[in-house]
Amino acid sequence: MLERIRIVLIGTSHPGNIGGTARAMHNMGLSDLALVAPRCEPLTAETVSRASGADHIVHAARTAETLEQAVADCTLVVGASARSRTLPWPMITPRELGGRLAGELAGPGTRLALVFGREDSGLSNAELQRCHAHVHIPANPDFSSLNLATAVQVLAYECRLAWLDGLETSGESDAEPPQPLATHEELEHYFAHLERTLIAIGFHDPVMPRQLMARLRRLTLRSRPERMELNILRGILSATEKQASGETPADSGEPDPPA
Ligand code: SAH
Repeated sequence: MLERIRIVLIGTSHPGNIGGTARAMHNMGLSDLALVAPRCEPLTAETVSRASGADHIVHAARTAETLEQAVADCTLVVGASARSRTLPWPMITPRELGGRLAGELAGPGTRLALVFGREDSGLSNAELQRCHAHVHIPANPDFSSLNLATAVQVLAYECRLAWLDGLETSGESDAEPPQPLATHEELEHYFAHLERTLIAIGFHDPVMPRQLMARLRRLTLRSRPERMELNILRGILSATEKQASGETPADSGEPDPPA
């Protein structure tokens, strides 16, 4: 289970925090680190010093230019956020995150990304809206922003507790999904297709977006669609596009709608 958990750091500006993250991960048995557009040299003397023997995790880290690339293969993406945002998103506590892990990571091809933001400005709204849920560490409301590596430590610890719990019980979950869930990449293709179609039929005006796409993202992500279900939705979109352009839906080449 722990090997299916990826820690993603976006725009980190202090190498010490990358080293501290590697140490926190190795302490808790995690090893998959991704760095998105780091704003510092990731591997410095300070990184190695703060990693205290866990710098192999930084050596093995993948670097990506965008969040999408870093989490493309993930079936659950959870953003760690110190503050609430204008458009409320499903919010969980670290303990609830741990409680969901056994079920979430039981199915085929499942992978969790825990996404952490910049030291100075956290995660952007666009990044937060790419997550299924947000996790908030319920710290002192008057001083709620933890050091980046410390926030990683808290969530990694909850993951480890959940894993240890699973070892004590059967280790198996009865919540295994019957079908593979859609990955982040498949969801992003769907959202792009949905937006294109809504523009084509005159339902969505990108000049006056009124948070429509953010709300549709939230609705879709909340329902955790399976890959097959997303294919059906894309089939409907293709048929709609053809209809709008005067072609017959039968030409679409997309999966048939459900009987
Ligand atoms: N100044 C930023 C916070 C930066 S802390 C802000 O106000 O948004 C760096 C990162 O650590 C955050 O982006 C978040 O991913 C994580 N983090 C810090 N405190 C947290 C908390 N209380 N709950 C969840 N994540 C937290």
